[in-house]
Amino acid sequence: MATTSKGVQASYPTHVDINDIYAPTHPDDQYKYSHGLSGVNQPQNNLLVNVLLTTLLLVTIVILVYRVGRGFQAERRHVAAATNPARQAIWATNRWKWFPRLKEHLLYAPLWKNRHNSEIQLSSAITFGTLPSRMHTILLLGYFASNLAYCLILPWKTADAPFLVATLRGRSGTLAVLNLIPTILFALRNNPFIWIFHISYDTFNLFHRWLATIVFLEVLAHIAAWLYNTLRVGDWKGAMWIINQAASYKWGLMASIAFLLITIQTWSPLRHAFYETFLVIHRVLIIHVIIGVYWHLKQHALPQLYWAYIIIAILAAEYVFRFFRVVYFNTSGLFRNRAITKTTVEALPGEACRLKFHLTRPWTGNPGSHVHVYLPSISFWCSHPFSVAWVEPQPLASESEKLPSSIGDLRIKTASSTVSLVVRARTGMTRSLHKKASLQPNKTLTTWGAIEGPYGGFNSLDSYGTVLLFAGGVGITHQISFVRHLLAGHTTGTAAAQRVVLIWSIRSTDILEWTGRWLEEIMAMRDRKDVLQVILYVSGKNSDLDTKLLPEGIEVRRGRCTASDVIDAEILDQVGAMVVTVCGPGAFADMVRAAVRRRVCVKNIDFVEESFTY
Ligand SMILES: Cc1cc2nc3c(=O)[nH]c(=O)nc-3n(C[C@H](O)[C@H](O)[C@H](O)COP(=O)(O)OP(=O)(O)OC[C@H]3O[C@@H](n4cnc5c(N)ncnc54)[C@H](O)[C@@H]3O)c2cc1C
Repeated sequence: MATTSKGVQASYPTHVDINDIYAPTHPDDQYKYSHGLSGVNQPQNNLLVNVLLTTLLLVTIVILVYRVGRGFQAERRHVAAATNPARQAIWATNRWKWFPRLKEHLLYAPLWKNRHNSEIQLSSAITFGTLPSRMHTILLLGYFASNLAYCLILPWKTADAPFLVATLRGRSGTLAVLNLIPTILFALRNNPFIWIFHISYDTFNLFHRWLATIVFLEVLAHIAAWLYNTLRVGDWKGAMWIINQAASYKWGLMASIAFLLITIQTWSPLRHAFYETFLVIHRVLIIHVIIGVYWHLKQHALPQLYWAYIIIAILAAEYVFRFFRVVYFNTSGLFRNRAITKTTVEALPGEACRLKFHLTRPWTGNPGSHVHVYLPSISFWCSHPFSVAWVEPQPLASESEKLPSSIGDLRIKTASSTVSLVVRARTGMTRSLHKKASLQPNKTLTTWGAIEGPYGGFNSLDSYGTVLLFAGGVGITHQISFVRHLLAGHTTGTAAAQRVVLIWSIRSTDILEWTGRWLEEIMAMRDRKDVLQVILYVSGKNSDLDTKLLPEGIEVRRGRCTASDVIDAEILDQVGAMVVTVCGPGAFADMVRAAVRRRVCVKNIDFVEESFTY
């Protein structure tokens, strides 16, 4: 008999090895349901895991069919409308009644009324994040309910309560490790499902957070079941004695404590208030969870061990991929002429900076894509996401001079490119950046930096005859790249756009400096007068505006933009299918979403939102 604790002394046969979970149960061992596989129904666990994976596969197939169907329809419309721009009327109307209703009540619907991206705020410093959409809520509730059901498929008819609880311990532990795979995958920006489904990282990040909550609840159930069976026959000292007997339990305990800390630190007000600190601590804790889970499974040679290998492989692949993406775009000439990306940061009025990355390679991102920016002198540990506002390809000297005379000359040989971003100062890295650049001569800082990307940019607007782009404040960065692309596409006959309206809502006119000469360049483009309308809403009361300083053709309206008025007016003149996109503060985006939902059953209108927060 063991002698460390009274409870254990009374009940634990020393000749049983706790670490050998596959050893037959000893009749004297009252702790038999606290270790090993006694009561754990492995065949049923495997069956339920297969059921869960099959359900996920079915959901994946449904989403994939939807995505391929929509992609095929957009492609057909693109070709038809771009080749015959005057005959787009057929695309302006809804072909089926059910689909617009689905868009109104499910696909574009917030959970409740109109609130989706406006943050729930207790004060300006304390926010509780945003609400998931109706569609997301259904998916999340369905997944939560299925996990609950799998945990509750237990031998309820048995009179042996500890046996039932041990079955729950096995079930909840199995599901927790299984769910850890998508939880981690969905937190990664190179998650392949993002580009397979064309679903934004933002959405996967939402699923990541809710899946993590499910994992946490399953971990709690796993521990509670173990504690119930342990304390039933012994005391807390006995429980500690068992933990000390097996390294596996110590690792399990470490992983659980790390998970508990993660759950506390991810609480929305804490996460948003100190995002960079949150990220650093989060990563350290995740490493502890993975190491803990790995050894917990490994020490007992549990069959779920290979899931831990999958998790480690996914994480390793993500960081290798990120590394190569950074190296590819930022050190491309390293072996030829030792060139690396040059970065300039220009402080602008309106508390923003313009960042220019002079890459040694041509940029390959689509309009609407974003990059992660590394500026080690400002923020050593984190990279921050920003939309690519403007790209200037720098052609090879020989290329710019001569006209193509052979098929070989048609190959794109652009030597390098300059990628520009506009970064609004918030409280962390962006504030330090603005401060540092403002103190430089000419308010321009040259530093070492790199970009990683391109990410996103899979929402092509090329098949729409009418495109409405709403930008609130710095949201212009996302929209402006589309304007240039669509105008050029109209001229070359590669985009269906016949009418493009850019609505930019700003508080004061100094913000106009953010776009520098880009608006001028756009307003000087061919066909601009036939296709593009730019409306500027200036909402600040004390903002003096000298319209003569603006590029010709920009319309200025005082006050706040009412999206429903703009959209309703455009519907009357709609050419072909219409898309309304928005990028801006949460409340602004919610207003545009609500205005679109009101009219999706009237005409063929799609809605796309780009959000700047997770
Ligand atoms: C796809 C995308 C595109 C974006 N494009 C632009 C843009 O073109 N111009 C622009 O000004 N802003 C853009 N943002 C927002 C920008 O990333 C944040 O404002 C910036 O990271 C804030 O940094 P900070 O340290 O000053 O943040 P803080 O003031 O400390 O935090 C403000 C908020 O920013 C978010 N945030 C902070 N750090 C990060 C991070 N590393 N990753 C993700 N979110 C973070 C958090 O939600 C946080 O609550 C974009 C965001 C996303 C997701």
